[in-house]
This record gives sequence, structure tokens and C-alpha cells, in this order.
Amino acid sequence: MLSEQTRRWQELDARHHFHPFTTHKELAEKGARIITRAEGCYVWDSEGHKILDGMAGLWCTQIGHGRERLARIAHDQIRQLDYYNAFFQCATPPAVELAAKLAQLLPPGMDRFHFVNSGSEANDTVIKSVWYYWNLMGKPEKKHFISRTLGYHGVGVGSASLTGMRFMHEPFDLPLPRFHHIGNPYPWIEGRGKDPAAFGLEAARWLEEKILELGPENVAAFVAEPIQGAGGVIIPPETYWPEVQRICRQYDVLLVSDEVICGFGRTGSWWGHETMGFEPDIVSMAKGLSSGYVPIAAVAFGRRVGDVIFAGEKEYAHGVTYAGHPVCAAIALENIRIMEEEGLGTRASGPIGAYFRERLTTLADHPLVGEVRTKGLLACVELCKDKATGELFQPVGKVGLVCRDLCVENGLVMRAIRDGMVLSPPLIVTEEQIDEIVTKARTSLDQTLAAIGRA
Ligand code: PMP
Repeated sequence: MLSEQTRRWQELDARHHFHPFTTHKELAEKGARIITRAEGCYVWDSEGHKILDGMAGLWCTQIGHGRERLARIAHDQIRQLDYYNAFFQCATPPAVELAAKLAQLLPPGMDRFHFVNSGSEANDTVIKSVWYYWNLMGKPEKKHFISRTLGYHGVGVGSASLTGMRFMHEPFDLPLPRFHHIGNPYPWIEGRGKDPAAFGLEAARWLEEKILELGPENVAAFVAEPIQGAGGVIIPPETYWPEVQRICRQYDVLLVSDEVICGFGRTGSWWGHETMGFEPDIVSMAKGLSSGYVPIAAVAFGRRVGDVIFAGEKEYAHGVTYAGHPVCAAIALENIRIMEEEGLGTRASGPIGAYFRERLTTLADHPLVGEVRTKGLLACVELCKDKATGELFQPVGKVGLVCRDLCVENGLVMRAIRDGMVLSPPLIVTEEQIDEIVTKARTSLDQTLAAIGRA
């Protein structure tokens, strides 16, 4: 029996609240889980259930939940300066300090920042800035974007066009013209039975083929996540990114790294492009920038584009009310300070990342598990019908949802992406908590097997 309080919130939610990416009729029948409290790597729902947050909120809570220091910084900043804008030739100290701090964390030359509120806005900013750049460069025809299927870049009209998910396009008459998608370097599905190094090069050449098809003089940029997150933690073979970079340079195509998930230590370095070994012209970031405590996102421009925009004599007529919001920027700065003090920028490539991989890999013997892959503190456990052949369940996605719901019942947030069970825990996760994740995941896998056997 649910408490009266929970039922009231569920009823109000069902009546008044449109959720992201939700079938509302279904949710209204089931009732939303109301999350009321969080601390460290755990969240609690309104019924008092303690759940290990294996997704760090939504890939964002790098430093864990409930840090007193961030609460204090928010309090102090609101009392000092609650809000002022960055329009009309004004700036606030937290925004300036944050930009300077990010410049230290990124490779030399990548040192100019435009702040926004979300990853979607960051990628819409990327699109407009790239178009603006090529206009200033006297190449107004160079406007086509290439990105990848299963790439996730946001929900704005532009960023959703970059996103390579059909279910996000069709209901909204997207993508816009001039947005193109190529295949992704997904060894588990696309690279079956292939040598990984050869497959990485093959997948990179899909980019070259698309550039040649569109004409290099028309192609503005290639936008991609170093590791595709919401697409299912797709980790490309090592050969992929260096070849992509070579192709972009050869055809004068800007290379944009969407680091909304991969940034801020998730893959074992501060930036996903460091882990995967390439040098982007532009980086978009969000989530881990403030560990999700408040909305803030940014686009970082390297010299090539940054210098041109800075030198432009025409107004850069773009930007939002809350660009570099002082409270959000102050929180982001304190979040980065904590990350630096605790070594979280690189912790995932140390012993904890190795332990995460080693322990999760023990799940590979389970009858439902076809593959376990990890990078830093990102992981995917792929479920399949036949371990020997990798044959998937049909329809794809159904078994993943069964497993996800069982995980939550067992006190673990694991996200299902198709039939891949995904993890992205806070970067402070301990060995004991990793053990807890693996134990709960195995129990949930056993129960999934039993449930689908019965079905
Ligand atoms: N890019 C990537 C790689 C993402 O994972 C996301 C969100 N999951 C976005 C962009 C969009 O960010 P937001 O939801 O903050 O708009």
C-alpha cells in the first residue's frame, strides 16, 4: 500500500505534469516514482526505498548527491549577487572565473566559452556558431552537418536534427534539411565477427563517403560523442577516432566533440576526446559541469573558430537570459574544485575503473548476457537470446525494460537502452558500492530470466 502522500503526488503528477520521453497514458496508470531525497550514491523515494543511483541521476552527478559545499556556495552567491546577465557588455565574477577554469582544463587554445543552460542549447549553439563561422569565412555554402545514427545531441530543433534517432524525428517532422546521419561504430551489432581495428577504420570511412557524396565544399562539421552515451554506451574501436580526425582535416570539416556525457571525468580523463585520442575544434558540455546540481552548459571554441568569432565585426546575435548565470557558474566552479581535490577528473581510469570493469565482467557468464563493455565509469551489459550467436530478443527493448524494472525493485538504478543495461555511477563510487551494483544486477538478471521464461 502506498502512503497517502505518495498517492497525492502521483495523482497531481498524472494530472499536471508532462514528462520528458514518456508515454503519459502508461505512466498515469502506473504512477510516477517520486524521488524525495539523495545523498552520495543513493536516492530515496517517497516510500522510503533506498536505491543505488547507478546512473548518477542522468549521467551527471559526478561528485555524488547532497554535497554541503555546493549548498553553501549557492546560498552565498545568491546573497552576494543572485542574478545578472552577460548582455550589454556586462559580466559577473563567477562566469569569468568559470570560463578561465575551463580553459585550464581543456587543451591549449580551446579557451573561449559560450554558456547556456542545457546540452540541447549547447548543441544548438554549436550549429549556429558553425554556420556563423563559415559565413564569416566567406564559404556560405558550407552548411551541412554530419552526425551518426544513435547519436544523442538534444531536443532543440537543431540539436534534435543532429540526434540520430528516428523515433525523435518522425513525430516532429525532423530532421531539418542539411542534417545527415551515418552509421555508428557499434562492434556488438555492426561489427559482428569483424576484426575491431579493421571495423573502426571501416566505420570512419562512412564519414568520408558521406562527405564526398555531399561535396566537401558543402560540409560544415561532423558532430559526435567520443563514446555514444544514450545510444547505448557505444565504444568505438581504437582505430576509429584518429581516422575520423584525419578525414575531417583532409576535407576541411570542423570536428565537434559532444562531451555532455563524456566530459568531466566520466571516461577516465577530464574529456572524452582525451580518452579516445583526438583533437576537436569545438566541445559541447553540460551535465558534469555542475554535477547536475543546477542547469548550466557550455560550448568551448578552439582557436580556429574562436578567433574568427572574437574578431568578427558584426554582432554575435545569439545567447540566452541565463548565459553564465552567476549562481550556476559559482556552483560549477565549486563542483570542479571538489573534483580536483578528490582526483575525480581521472579517478575512473585508476583502480576504481579497473575494479568496475573486473566486477561487471563477472556477469558475462550469465545466460542472458552477450557482452559486457566498460570505459572509465561507463558500462553496458548487453542482453541477448542466444549467447553463442548473439541473437537478440524480439522485439528489441522488451527484455531490457523487464530487467530495468526488476533492478529498481532490487534497489539499483540501471537504465535499459534497447536490451543493453547501462551504468554510469557517480565518480565517487566505492568498491563496496560496485559490489552492491553487481550483486543486485545479477539478482535482477536471474529474475529477468525467470520472468521471460514464464512469459
Ligand atoms: N548531448 C548528449 C551527448 C547528451 O547525452 C545529452 C542529454 N542526455 C544532450 C546532448 C542534451 O542535453 P540536455 O538534456 O541537457 O539538453
